[in-house]
Amino acid sequence: MLTPENDEISSFQPIASMTDPEQMLETLRWQVEMGADEAILDQPEPMATHPSSASLSTEAPSTKPPLGAHHPDDMAKPQETPNPDKLDPVIKTPSGSAKASVKSLDVADCNTLDALRQAVENDDGSELKRTATQMVFADGDPASKIMFIGEAPGADEDRQGKPFVGVSGQLLNQMLASIGLEREAIYITNIILWRPPGNRTPTSEETAQFLPILRRHIQLVQPEILVCLGGAAAKGLLATDMGILKLRGAWHYYDAGDGRELPVMPTLHPAYLLRSPQQKALAWKDFRLIAKKMRELAQ
Ligand code: URA
Repeated sequence: MLTPENDEISSFQPIASMTDPEQMLETLRWQVEMGADEAILDQPEPMATHPSSASLSTEAPSTKPPLGAHHPDDMAKPQETPNPDKLDPVIKTPSGSAKASVKSLDVADCNTLDALRQAVENDDGSELKRTATQMVFADGDPASKIMFIGEAPGADEDRQGKPFVGVSGQLLNQMLASIGLEREAIYITNIILWRPPGNRTPTSEETAQFLPILRRHIQLVQPEILVCLGGAAAKGLLATDMGILKLRGAWHYYDAGDGRELPVMPTLHPAYLLRSPQQKALAWKDFRLIAKKMRELAQ
């Protein structure tokens, strides 16, 4: 059984080889609860023929995102689930870039964080500015080696002008503490810098409009690690349609546009973890990989 304490699957039997409908249903239910919420292939694939190292390598293997079936946290996987402390999964995804058709603020000349903040604040190009109380630019230490990126400010953030200050932020602070990181020691922002009305999900146009701003933001902060909180941030930054349950748990790479390729860890959004606490074990795995990467970079 998979538990936070013991992340081994002790008695794995592929559903395709089961004959008892009750057992099949029970196993399917369990897989859905553990986050395996998508069928990856049309036909079941015998695990014995699975290319075990297609996406799990300490080297970036290819520029093509692998099938989710190769993800380290796939539930339909026998006992050799890699120990994240021994082998860090790496997935190459194309780095994010704005859709050509969307007009975005030109921030290339902003050479400081203050200049960037001012430029975005003064710009009227985003409809979201009209309904938001104030811009939510960033929080934390701009000299930090690690930069967290969320989706968009919510009501609390809109009121206080800082990202992740509501209940999600409180859970995030606990998650950071679990790997010995103080909230003040990280730098944190969102893709979208104005609150979408009613906390609605940002449209793809809005995301595309803000991505060049985020890129400049990253260039100015110069972090060594990026962490995407939730699917919207991960999909936007990594320019992919893959779901967060497939993206998380592996290092991806983001072309910062200044000659640097930054490791990116997509992980589950704290708001999602508040709704689905049984998924915290997955976030804990991601945070252990983040802690390990930080130790490596500190050497
Ligand atoms: N959710 C986000 O994605 N960002 C915030 O700042 C708050 C909640």
